[in-house]
Amino acid sequence: MNKRINIAIDGPAGAGKSTVARKVADHLTFLYIDTGAMYRALTFKAIENEVDLEDGPALKDLLDTTVIDLQVGESEQLVLVDHTDVTTDIRSSHVTNNVSFVARQSEVREEMVKRQKLLADRGGVVMDGRDIGTHVLPKSELKVFLIASVEERASRRYKELIENGIEADYDQIKDEIALRDKRDTEREVAPLVKASDAIEIDTTTMSISDVVDHILQLAKERA
Ligand code: C5P
Repeated sequence: MNKRINIAIDGPAGAGKSTVARKVADHLTFLYIDTGAMYRALTFKAIENEVDLEDGPALKDLLDTTVIDLQVGESEQLVLVDHTDVTTDIRSSHVTNNVSFVARQSEVREEMVKRQKLLADRGGVVMDGRDIGTHVLPKSELKVFLIASVEERASRRYKELIENGIEADYDQIKDEIALRDKRDTEREVAPLVKASDAIEIDTTTMSISDVVDHILQLAKERA
């Protein structure tokens, strides 16, 4: 059998990457890999262990003794750190607002990229993140760059929190998203940037299923 294609999905925070990537993977029976969850998992463990979030070598040492597992759950992907379920913990605002500091350390990225490449080695992977098309899977057959206005991204996040009974402030969410994008875009190592051969999809006015269908169509053409 031919090796199956790999699909890279990048874009700024809250553009719908993980929702879309998971659905595309489900349709194709591909493996979905949320690389943001890996950076979040390390950030969570570093906070727990009081490791300086800007100390690259110390974070790398911590990562070397950390097992990060991504598992398929019923309605979401499960994230395990050293065999403990941290799926909910890694979405806290404390982790969210600090993950960019950890993710900009070159020592951390080098190891994460190594692990991500291994996961995609056999093909049949949908991987989402910031540098997948540019650094992790530069040869992937399909690269998608998802964008949406910051207002739309903040409003989606706001609705999601309210629906889950969590208090939220729209302006604060918008500012935090914009700040995280700025940090991810301006960092020296593997910044958030659209790969030259990526297809940009602006999801501002699109439904999730329209975005998924569009990507599935592109995948069919590339397979
Ligand atoms: O995708 P998510 O919003 O969960 O990513 C959390 C953070 O992890 C990003 O803001 C970014 O700092 C970092 N990240 C990264 N490279 C990736 C995926 C995520 O630097 N491939």
